[in-house]
This record gives sequence, structure tokens and C-alpha cells, in this order.
Amino acid sequence: MKPFEYYSPQSFDEAARILADRGAEARALAGGTDLMIRMKRKQWLPRAVVNLKRIAGLRDIALNGELRLGALVTLNELISSPVIREHFPVLAYTAGKMAGVQVRNLATVGGNLCNASPAADTAPPLIALNARAVVVSSRGERVVPLDEFFVGVGKSVLAPDEILREIIVPRDDSWRASFIKLEHREAMDISIASVAVSLHVSGHKPPVAGCEDVRIVLGAVAPTPMRAKQAEAILRGNELTADRIAEAARVAASEAQPIDDVRGSAWYRREMIEVLTRRQLLEIKS
Ligand SMILES: Cc1cc2nc3c(=O)[nH]c(=O)nc-3n(C[C@H](O)[C@H](O)[C@H](O)COP(=O)(O)OP(=O)(O)OC[C@H]3O[C@@H](n4cnc5c(N)ncnc54)[C@H](O)[C@@H]3O)c2cc1C
Repeated sequence: MKPFEYYSPQSFDEAARILADRGAEARALAGGTDLMIRMKRKQWLPRAVVNLKRIAGLRDIALNGELRLGALVTLNELISSPVIREHFPVLAYTAGKMAGVQVRNLATVGGNLCNASPAADTAPPLIALNARAVVVSSRGERVVPLDEFFVGVGKSVLAPDEILREIIVPRDDSWRASFIKLEHREAMDISIASVAVSLHVSGHKPPVAGCEDVRIVLGAVAPTPMRAKQAEAILRGNELTADRIAEAARVAASEAQPIDDVRGSAWYRREMIEVLTRRQLLEIKS
């Protein structure tokens, strides 16, 4: 690993100042499970590393009308939080499908989003839950809908001096959400394809017959996590028949823009998006 300057600020102001001074030469450090590996492989050679872990409040999980999830909440904290388990079970479930227990003790939800991998597993369910990212810098604060946060492979809307502070998730018990990922090895592998679905079920007892609103989010099949908006439009305002669900799943697969890589071919990924989308929609309505 190349030598680098190490900073451990205790406040946002201090962190923002360092990041503003060092610009693109600096990298924020959360759990380090992506950053350290890339530095060791010399894929990233930051001159300065800014550890965010001593900044107060970044590990808070607070529910007060909306969920406020600190960017440094770890995957294991997501799994064990009573608030998350009761009100946002899809997030605890998703975290449980990521990595192994040692990595989950370090890996943070904010790091997963800021790394901006197309296969970042927390992104599809958070987008399906209509989450927003709160971003801070020495210029102030801005809020970005999470479905506008990702702009390319490994690229988010974050400027080099910006820090993701928290993720806000609306609490709306009239929505039900689910997530599924396809991987080679259970819970130790990056997604080959993933699908998160959320369905507006207000006033309906399962099985849900009609769809007032829906979000379908695909992971690992495009440069960024993506909404399958044409598939959503097929379902929105309509009866959730088996035929309509099958048609929406086919359209979701056609909206995906997968590539061939070591984990799977583009053809296989598209086929799997159709299967996973159909399966999730049938499960969530039942
Ligand atoms: C064995 C193994 C298995 C894995 N399995 C999975 C998996 O199943 N699914 C999956 O999605 N990922 C997986 N990962 C990838 C990784 O663990 C996750 O992406 C993790 O959530 C990253 O979080 P972190 O806190 O470690 O981020 P870090 O490595 O600390 O940071 C990642 C990037 O985000 C930036 N960053 C971090 N926090 C902030 C912030 N608050 N504001 C601004 N920038 C920030 C850093 O500068 C860096 O560029 C795996 C990794 C390993 C090593």
C-alpha cells in the first residue's frame, strides 16, 4: 500500500474542511471493506484518508415519522436493530444476505451506497422504499432522492468534498417491500442480479388484488441500480393478475442493460430478472 496521510476528524465541519482542502486526493473511510481492498490492489491511491468513525451521530438509527439511518450504521446493526426489524424488515433481510459476519461488522450502509457498485445490495430496497440521501460539505447540506444518487459504475452524485451523512426512509406502513438476490454462494458473494419490489397495499388484506402503486428496482444489471419504470406502469392502477405480473416481469427484463462478466452472461442475467421479478411480485401480493 502507498503511504497516505490519515485524518480522524471529530465533527462534520472538520471533515468537510479536510475534504475541501484535499479535494479528489482524499477518500472518506467508513468500514474500509471496499476502500482498503482497492488501496491494497493499488486501484485507488488516495493521498489522504479521512476516517469518519469519530463523528458523532453517524451510527444513529432513529424513527420519528421517518427513519433516519446514519451513514455509518453497519450491516450487522441493520440486522439486529429492533426498529429496522419491525418497521423495515426488508433492510434487515437484505443486510443478512450480504457478505459474512466479519465483513458485516465493519461494512456500512453509507459505504455500500457511496461505493456505487451496480451490485450494491442496499440500493434496490432503499430505492424501493423511496429513500433520500442527506449529503453535507463545507458548502452546506443537500438532499438527493436515492434513485438519482447513482450516475455510473462506481460513480455517485457526490462531489469529492461531500459526505453522505444519513439516509432518510419514509415510514409508510401501507407499502410492503421485498428483496431477492441471485448469487453463486449464499451470503458471501456479490449479486449476479437482484430485484427489490415495493407495493402499495393500503386498505387491502393479503392477498392483494389490485395495485395502486409499485416500485421495481433492479440491481447488478445496468451501470447503476435502476427502476424498471415501464414494468411499474403495467401494474400501476391495475388488477394484479398472474398474466399482468408475467408481462411486467418480461418488460422489466427488457429494461435491464446487463453485461457479460465473470459472474454471469448478459443473457442469463436478463432471464433471471424476469424470473426474480415475477417471483417477488407474486410473493408480495400473497
Ligand atoms: C468478502 C466481501 C463480501 C462482500 N459482500 C458484499 C455483498 O454481498 N453485497 C454488497 O453489496 N457488497 C458486498 N461487499 C462490498 C462491501 O463490503 C460493501 O460495499 C460495504 O457496505 C462497504 O461499506 P464500507 O463501510 O466498508 O465502505 P468503505 O470501504 O469504507 O468505503 C467505500 C467507498 O465509499 C466512500 N464512503 C464511505 N462512506 C462514505 C460517506 N459516509 N460519505 C462519503 N463517502 C463515503 C469511501 O470513500 C469509499 O470510496 C463485500 C465485500 C467483501 C470484502
